Formats: sequence, structure tokens, C-alpha cells
Amino acid sequence: MSNAASEHAPVVALAGGVGAARFLRGLTEVIAPEEVTAIVNTGDDREFYGVWVSPDVDIVTYTLADRVDSERGYGLRGDSFQVVEALGALGHETWFRLGDRDFATCQHRSLRLREGLGLAAIADELRRAFGVTTRILPMSESPCPTRVALHDGSVVHFEDYMVRDGAPDTVERVDLSAAEAATPSKGVLEAIENADTLILCPSNPVVSIGPILALPGVRAALSAARAPVVAISPIVAGAPVKGPADRLLRGVGAEVSARGVATLYRDVADGFVLDQHDAEQSKDIEALGLATRVTDTLMKKPGIAASLARHVLELAAGLR
Ligand code: GDP
Repeated sequence: MSNAASEHAPVVALAGGVGAARFLRGLTEVIAPEEVTAIVNTGDDREFYGVWVSPDVDIVTYTLADRVDSERGYGLRGDSFQVVEALGALGHETWFRLGDRDFATCQHRSLRLREGLGLAAIADELRRAFGVTTRILPMSESPCPTRVALHDGSVVHFEDYMVRDGAPDTVERVDLSAAEAATPSKGVLEAIENADTLILCPSNPVVSIGPILALPGVRAALSAARAPVVAISPIVAGAPVKGPADRLLRGVGAEVSARGVATLYRDVADGFVLDQHDAEQSKDIEALGLATRVTDTLMKKPGIAASLARHVLELAAGLR
């Protein structure tokens, strides 16, 4: 890292799943992994097949452990699916494809929950077992299911909307009331308060970063933090890199663009990194009061996540 000022700074990143995990892997190539804390969305969490699944926490853990199935972006590389297939043969719905070893992670989480441990302690235990030195902090230990209200009047859990129903473009509203009524995990507000750099990862702004921001005290802590807050656009050239962020942004009345995401973050962010394909939106984003940096943000190519992380840290250092 060329920037000595941010080299030893504690960095706290608000994270969803795949986009965030790829960015965090780059970030931990640029600064020491133990200097980073990821506060991870739990709005997607749900019980499947009798075990508690925390999709974003596990994606971040597996990615930082270099064990993720990088084609799918989630699950463990080389995993098999015998348990879900056997459950299917017994007549269970198996649209949520949980791999066998991934199942063991979730079974472990469920057993430990039954023993009285909290989600944060379990996430910490799991990341250590996977050899990850970055602190992975679930945003809350209370259940905070994100629900999606659709044009036909139905309200469904995010996983039903996303995985079972294939994310239709019929979003009327996103219900974050569970997160709004939940308590942040112990350490979340303190981590934000004590950080030297705060990052909003390139994640779905509505259903990944949105639930974290909806937790009582988080927006206020970000606004009051002494550290600059830098966000990275998950929208490139007017479309999500993957996933249904376009449908969810439309559903909450936001523009599907880097500018639209910056508008959602304007109250909490000081800086915004957008893709080179969207360079012409810089002026509009600066007019919202955010400092900008334009670069290549497409992290499938080797080296881009680390270079993106360098840009984020440099922009943050200039805002201090
Ligand atoms: P999910 O819960 O697994 O869908 O994970 P996230 O919320 O972290 O990720 C979804 C968002 O990440 C989508 O809006 C994607 O557009 C964004 N994303 C994924 N990969 C990249 C990338 O390489 N670059 C950028 N800029 N955004 C990305």
C-alpha cells in the first residue's frame, strides 16, 4: 500500500455477500487482514432444513479463507449436494441448494445456538476454524429478516423472493422493520466509532447495506464517526454486476445507477468510488456532497479488487 497514513488504520467495512467478499479479499491483500472488521448483513438469514443459514456471513468467511466456490460466488469449492438431494427424494422442497460441507457449517451454527451461544461468537468461532484473521461481525444477533412486498400484495422473506422465486421485477416495497427493531451486535457501534476508515462495500444497497443502516444507532454512528466513510458503487454502466439490485432499487424508487446509489448513501458517506464506465456521473455525485474517485471496479479480473481497495483507502486518507 502506497499510502502510509492508512496502512495501519483499523478499517471497518459494512458488507453483504459476494460483491463485498470479493472486495474484502482485495482489501486484505493491501492491508493486514487483522486490521479489518467486516460488519455483515444478517437480513438474509433463515432456517433451511432445520439449520440456521447466514448466507452473507458464510460467503465472507469462505471467500476470505479462499475456500469459496468462485464460480457461484457462494458455498464451498468442490462441495457435494447429497443431503439436499436425499431430502428432495423424501419429498422436501430443495430450491435452496446448501452443499454438504456448507450444511455442516450451518449445523454447527445451529448446535451452538442451541447451547446458548450468540451469532457473533459463532461467526468468530467459524472464521477462526477457517483460518480467517479478519474479524467478521454479524450485524445483529436478533432475527432481522428482510421482507419484500410485491405488486400482487404478497410479502415474502428475501430468500423466497431471491432464490425460490428468481427475483421478479415486481417489488413494491422493501420491509426492513425487523432490522429497525433489532439491536446491533455488541461491538458494532464501537467498531464504527473507533475506525480510522469506514467502507460501504459494493453490495446491494437495498437488501445488504440497507438492513445494516436500518439498525438503531448505525446511521447516527456513521454520521458521528471521526473516520471518513467511503462507499463503492455496486452498479456499473446502469446495471448490477450480478443479482437483483436493479429490481430492488426500482422497488424503493431509486435510480439504477452509481448516482442513484450515491443518493441513497449521501447522508452517511463522505466519498464514493464509481466505475470508469460511469465517469460522467462524477459531477452529479460531487454535487450531492461526496468526493469521488473513478476506477475499474469489476473484480472478476485478477488484481482489480486490490487496486480498488487502494483507491478506496487513498480517497479516505484525503478526506481525513
Ligand atoms: P449478495 O447478497 O451475495 O447478492 O451480495 P452483495 O449484496 O454483496 O452483492 C451484490 C451486489 O454486488 C450487486 O449489486 C453487484 O452488482 C455487486 N457486485 C458484485 N460483484 C461486483 C464487482 O466486481 N464490482 C462491483 N462494482 N460491484 C459488484
